[in-house]
Amino acid sequence: MPPYPHLFAPLALRSLALKNRIVMGSMHTRLECEPDGAERLAAFYAERARGGAALIVTGGVSPDRAGLLEPDADALDDAARIPFHRTITDAVHAAGGRICLQILHAGRYAKIDGLVGASDIPAPINRRKPRALSDPEVEATVEAFARCAALAQEAGYDGVEIMGSEGYLITQFTCPRTNKRSDRWGGSLENRIRFPVEIVRRTRARTGPDFLIIYRLSALDLVEDGMTAQETVAQARAIEAVGADIFDTGIGWHEARVPTIGYMVPRAAWAFAVKRIREAVSIPVMVTNRINTPDAAERLLVDGIADLVSLARPMLADSAFANKARAGRADEINTCVACNQACLDYLFRDKVGTCLVNPRACYETKLPTGPAAHSKRIAVVGAGAAGLACAVTAAERGHAVSLHEAHSAIGGQLNLAAAVPGKEFAETLRYFNVHIAKSGIDLRLASRPSAQELAAGRFDHVVIATGVTPRIPSLPGIDHPKVIRYDEVLSGRKTAGKRVAIIGAGGIGFDVAEFLSVPADGRSVEQFLDAWGVDRTGTSAGGLVPSRPEHVEREIVVLQRKPTTPGRTLGMTTGWAIKAQLARRGVTFLAGVAYECVDDRGLHIILDGAPRVLEVDNVVLCAGQKPVRTLYDELAALGVRVHLIGGAERAEELDALRAIDQGTRLALGF
Ligand code: NAP
Ligand code: SF4
Repeated sequence: MPPYPHLFAPLALRSLALKNRIVMGSMHTRLECEPDGAERLAAFYAERARGGAALIVTGGVSPDRAGLLEPDADALDDAARIPFHRTITDAVHAAGGRICLQILHAGRYAKIDGLVGASDIPAPINRRKPRALSDPEVEATVEAFARCAALAQEAGYDGVEIMGSEGYLITQFTCPRTNKRSDRWGGSLENRIRFPVEIVRRTRARTGPDFLIIYRLSALDLVEDGMTAQETVAQARAIEAVGADIFDTGIGWHEARVPTIGYMVPRAAWAFAVKRIREAVSIPVMVTNRINTPDAAERLLVDGIADLVSLARPMLADSAFANKARAGRADEINTCVACNQACLDYLFRDKVGTCLVNPRACYETKLPTGPAAHSKRIAVVGAGAAGLACAVTAAERGHAVSLHEAHSAIGGQLNLAAAVPGKEFAETLRYFNVHIAKSGIDLRLASRPSAQELAAGRFDHVVIATGVTPRIPSLPGIDHPKVIRYDEVLSGRKTAGKRVAIIGAGGIGFDVAEFLSVPADGRSVEQFLDAWGVDRTGTSAGGLVPSRPEHVEREIVVLQRKPTTPGRTLGMTTGWAIKAQLARRGVTFLAGVAYECVDDRGLHIILDGAPRVLEVDNVVLCAGQKPVRTLYDELAALGVRVHLIGGAERAEELDALRAIDQGTRLALGF
């Protein structure tokens, strides 16, 4: 039996024969804003087509100028734009793939002047106020969608996906939350869904019977005054009736206060909402969000949740996801860890997106792979994130690599991150372990080579990635038994008591707070949905109900010296959810403190000029790190030229993103 038989079952749709059920979901990359955007997008998508995805859906392209996500975004509103898109479709077809253009009108989410909406209600995540479209303008917008689809067809796309989820213009029409109109486009359900129904009807009429039309339906709005499940199903049936071929599904508007794709969301958490749609319609349905392994994808198909699986970020992490799964090499997949750090967080900072575990994503033309011209002998010391990325990338290019790790296992700080609930770095460690074995790296565990040995080894390159050591603040009582370090807590070497003070509110202080505040009833899909107030019955508008309190057995206070709001260094798209989760669990924060001492009573601080004692069982140190550079200094003293990377090079603001990027780029240069 071949692996994943459901995932690799073909599917015939109109004139298309999809070779499997894996669809690369739509992702905004901002590559279209780059001067060589068409070439970079072509290379990005073609690599994923070669990697075995049956169908690719592009990032959103607006049907008109008013629907642009941002001023430099792409609109396909004129035949002059066809050559740009031809570059992309030709590349994907040459790679044996199929590709659909996603048509996305941003509506009130548009970060442009002159934005429009169903009504003139501003979005809580956009400071600009939209203007309500007039009736003729709504008609013109419907026409713009159909025209865009026709232009996409001319540009060689196999179909389109009409973006009707996530809070963009179409959902702004379908939900009472944002649609206060009294004309034929507002009021009753029939009137509110008229906009998407007309879009699909006219798109089908304009593009003919063979063109694929995917409709991305909001399976759950997760906002007040969103749709009920009954309304969503009625919308789906109406859209199916006018010619859609597939329902893709979306979960939550961008302004929703429920995390939908971050690491704190359990895998496949939203299957229940997608299943409701599949049971109500007869066309294929696609499931999406937090599906990052072939096993999870296969399970959703076996369980009858959906007919196709949409993988977006997992395709950034590994372009060959599908081929590896089909070949029985799922253990070689570089798994998306749902961190959002280099994809979504970059986009919100107006940067081109990429991937923490795969820095080549969206840089396919800038960071080409392939065998090196000459095989070199390379020694890497330190098998943390930076050293691992460097060693594996170098070995894959044909270099002879020896990798030294002082501990008995690879991973360094990744081992600690993997202990944080939801953080999927165990998958990253599995990926590196498998690639070390398969690429013939000479891995030496519990190995601390001396500077003399490395100098005598006559390597072409010596890479020092010896990492970091926790910073220990100088404080009276720092040696008190109550004081423990974050690495001792996360590694399980020490267990914190019921009352805990955490010194340091950086990324690791928050990680430790999450680790220590996991509710007594664990972290199941049901627990997650209940804690965030998600209605599984489908009766409430928007799918929201009051959240269920979490039972946490510890009292935790997180401290920092800066007077600023704690958590500023957390990721833009995950930080708010981490903070909300900790607040719900009763974790408190104190900023602007001065530390006095630790003694048998607990942690003594000064807050607002007054002394205070936090009577805690343990004080956990999360006060940052210092670089470990002894070996580097010794090699430098011997006159050996070495490369210094990762935390050993710069401990401040070190994270896996910078470490993996640095290690990979260095190895691509060897
Ligand atoms: P960090 O972000 O630099 O935070 C260090 C914390 O320790 C700060 O809150 C700092 O606040 C405090 N501190 C610094 N020196 C101190 C001293 N001498 N005494 C007492 N407190 C001191 O470092 P980190 O938390 O170790 O994280 C390391 C890196 O990993 C960071 O880049 C972080 O962003 C990244 N990371 C990210 C995530 C994520 O979720 N994206 C998770 C984990 C780690 P005050 O100086 O104000 O007291
Ligand atoms: Fe996944 Fe993180 Fe990569 Fe984004 S940056 S694709 S969330 S691993």
